[in-house]
Amino acid sequence: MNYEEALKHSLTVPWKVGTCQQGEKCWCRTIIPEEEILDDEGEDIYIASGAEIHKVHAEHIVKLHNESLTNKVTRLEVINHQDEPIGRVYSKHNCKNVETSLQDEGRTLKIFINEG
Ligand SMILES: [Zn+2]
Repeated sequence: MNYEEALKHSLTVPWKVGTCQQGEKCWCRTIIPEEEILDDEGEDIYIASGAEIHKVHAEHIVKLHNESLTNKVTRLEVINHQDEPIGRVYSKHNCKNVETSLQDEGRTLKIFINEG
């Protein structure tokens, strides 16, 4: 995708907070898509790079952005295609405030159904 398309795409995917080259001890944080987005030139799409934004603001922006992606979600379904019995494992309708969270260094996906 070209740069314009990559920018638009970046608004539709979850973001995460990262560190600059100085690591955790630095005041700043980066904001990047959870999965790398490259444009035609092979350039990474960054939301914010190093020395631009404080850790506190980066975490706040990422939280709000990621919540905005699931704002319209009202139904949650978990489908098992891995082994028997194949099919719907969990289903809940009328969900109001669904939030996803990748934890455990990306190995656990948690889905929270919050109060309105
Ligand atoms: Zn820094």
